Amino acid sequence: QREYHIVVLGSGGVGKSCLTAQFVQNVWIESYDPTIEDSYRKAIMVDGRQVILEILDTAGTEQFSEELYMKTGQGFLLVFSITSMTSLHELAELRDQIIRIKDDMRVPIVLVGNKSDLEEDRAVSRARAFAVSQSWGGCPYYETSARRRANVDEVFTDLCRQIILK
Ligand code: GDP
Ligand code: MG
Repeated sequence: QREYHIVVLGSGGVGKSCLTAQFVQNVWIESYDPTIEDSYRKAIMVDGRQVILEILDTAGTEQFSEELYMKTGQGFLLVFSITSMTSLHELAELRDQIIRIKDDMRVPIVLVGNKSDLEEDRAVSRARAFAVSQSWGGCPYYETSARRRANVDEVFTDLCRQIILK
């Protein structure tokens, strides 16, 4: 049985918990306790084979555990909100940290621009985010909406595929 550790990272309020809840439980949770950091298990089929994902939804409250979960994590969803340029900028440091701690330039990462349903409040163009993903060694970029459950399965599956192929 294959089991992979996935870590969901990003600034507070970008939708990490909502994305995780949609993926794991198929529910939309309007308001999630921002301090809750928890992990969830879900079995999925990837290219005809079953894998178990252990997903850590981080809350950025416990600095000391950061190094530990970066070590344990095999794949990382780096999430920002398309309504906040700051939330995109803040991911660069997290990515540097992951690469430093894992001592691996080729860590499986997916860049996720969440809240794509809020097009009228967009502050980060698709081109801008794509350029960032290209500068990160061509990691995949997806825009998701946890609210509408758009592209949610895709980001987890893509990340899982990267881990398998590694
Ligand atoms: P976290 O701190 O990254 O875990 O963020 P949460 O998952 O708790 O979400 C923060 C806020 O953003 C909540 O009020 C959610 O309702 C809202 N939110 C999360 N995802 C989406 C989305 O895709 N679209 C919209 N419109 N709101 C979202
Ligand atoms: Mg949260």
